[in-house]
Amino acid sequence: MTKSGTILQRCEAKGLRLTSQRRVIASVLDMSRDHPDVEELHARAARRDAAISLATVYRTVKTLEEAGILEKVDFGDGRARYEDAERDHHDHLIDMENGRVIEFVDPEIEALQEKIARKLGFELLGHRLELYGRPLPDPDADSD
Ligand SMILES: [Zn+2]
Repeated sequence: MTKSGTILQRCEAKGLRLTSQRRVIASVLDMSRDHPDVEELHARAARRDAAISLATVYRTVKTLEEAGILEKVDFGDGRARYEDAERDHHDHLIDMENGRVIEFVDPEIEALQEKIARKLGFELLGHRLELYGRPLPDPDADSD
């Protein structure tokens, strides 16, 4: 899927009312390549405009999620995180030791899910997959 513009442009295309604070938040989202939660987004936005409140970030993110511009992701720690809903499809592997998130796409997993859906009588419209793990010990590491 190719993106239909930046988050800011999509807000405008959908006729969302954009105050200057919301513009800053949309632009912070456009710059984010990770999966920030609302607190993190607030910290980034406040660096550009200290008057932006956490409540404003909450409301803006909720509006963008409802408009289908942002997607909520949950990595099992009870915190809602967000990413651009028009990012190319990918799945997530979460490192439980430090919270690092690795993005991946595996053609076999994609095909397998298609197959399962078809077998159950469905056309697959999408899926979400989160893997949780910890790094394997490095086999080359000196163990003394
Ligand atoms: Zn992601």
